Amino acid sequence: MVHTDDLREKNQDAPGAVGWRSRLRQAWRTLRGDAAPVADGALPLSGGAATPSQLQVIESLISGLPGPAIVLDGDGRVLAYNDAATSIAPALRRGEPALISLRMPDLVDAIRRAGKRHERQRVEFFERVPLDRWFEAFVSPVRLGQRGDPTDILLLTFNDLTPLRRVEEMRADFVANASHELRTPLAALLGFIETLQGSAKDDVVARGKFLAIMQGQATRMARLIDDLLSLSRIELNAHLRPSTALELAPVVRQVVDGLQMLARDRGVEIKVTVPSEPLTVLGDRDELVRALENLVENALKYGAAGKRIDITLSPAQTRAGTPEARLNIRDYGPGIAPEHLPRLTERFYRVDVADSRAQGGTGLGLALVKHVLNRHGGRLSIDSTLGAGAAFTIHVPLYTGDSGSATETL
Ligand code: ADP
Repeated sequence: MVHTDDLREKNQDAPGAVGWRSRLRQAWRTLRGDAAPVADGALPLSGGAATPSQLQVIESLISGLPGPAIVLDGDGRVLAYNDAATSIAPALRRGEPALISLRMPDLVDAIRRAGKRHERQRVEFFERVPLDRWFEAFVSPVRLGQRGDPTDILLLTFNDLTPLRRVEEMRADFVANASHELRTPLAALLGFIETLQGSAKDDVVARGKFLAIMQGQATRMARLIDDLLSLSRIELNAHLRPSTALELAPVVRQVVDGLQMLARDRGVEIKVTVPSEPLTVLGDRDELVRALENLVENALKYGAAGKRIDITLSPAQTRAGTPEARLNIRDYGPGIAPEHLPRLTERFYRVDVADSRAQGGTGLGLALVKHVLNRHGGRLSIDSTLGAGAAFTIHVPLYTGDSGSATETL
């Protein structure tokens, strides 16, 4: 007579020995053709490989995940992965040890820890090639199968933190730049106030001179705050496309009329060419006026040496064949070196900081233009050759519909 307790005892593998259950499991895996020798990086997880039907479920599940996902078996080998995973680890091969396929040391450590502790691990890592990218990875032990015959696998999922990091960096840079821009005129103001209270107290000539400089500095601070507020307002509405039909020629005339004084001061002649037919876009008039003002003002400030500005409004088509309005502002000044062109629309980016400040610039003008055009579903293109002037072109989709919106002209 055999007692059940005896059976249980006999069925259990002696500690440290390879018992008959393991041998049977290994034989079954060999028969199925998926036996794998235990790798160096084998995880202290229980059980054998996933069954073919389990593997099918795993593959279906991870192929449905939007982000990269990799599944490892108890031996630390790659069991399955989805397409997105190959963008993180191009060397992924089924059946290969994770150690070889995943070359991120922090991630490999997290995999080992998750296997050892049977706890989910989170790790952040940074990739330099082909581009700077930040990721967070979750390594989660998952138990498959029945109690008594469990199979442990590790599920690796990834989130791309790059956009978040970029926004964080931009925000930090922006605050640093804005503070710096405000601090400079503020320091000048405080310096002059101190001088006027002290040594120049009774000096009428000096007082007049200093007050004029102080007014200039205060105006600069006010312009900076104004530009910052405009930028944040436009960004806040970035997702709301303007819905008012607006004719562009009157916008051009309004801006040019408003800047005639500055043009006379700088000895620049503005030549405007508009087509005979009206060009209508869906737009926010104040924002488009502001954008165009910035571009014409820049041409007057930085391109004054050319003595002439051509502003041309014309109908055109995008490469995809969509009709658009193009508004080209061309000056014949010193132009801009090619290495600066891609960065010109960054906040606070200037080719020559001293020149920009001397002209009352804030370094936010072109960033503002870019954001206004983004909101309008349009874009800004810049074309310039050193010594041969600069051309800035506003592209905005033409409005061809005829219902729903009011037409706004000046
Ligand atoms: P700012 O307030 O300094 O004018 P913008 O964003 O409007 O800021 O312009 C950024 C920089 O681009 C300017 O500081 C200037 O160096 C350069 N720039 C803009 N327009 C022109 C132009 N028409 N000709 C030469 N340089 C220009």
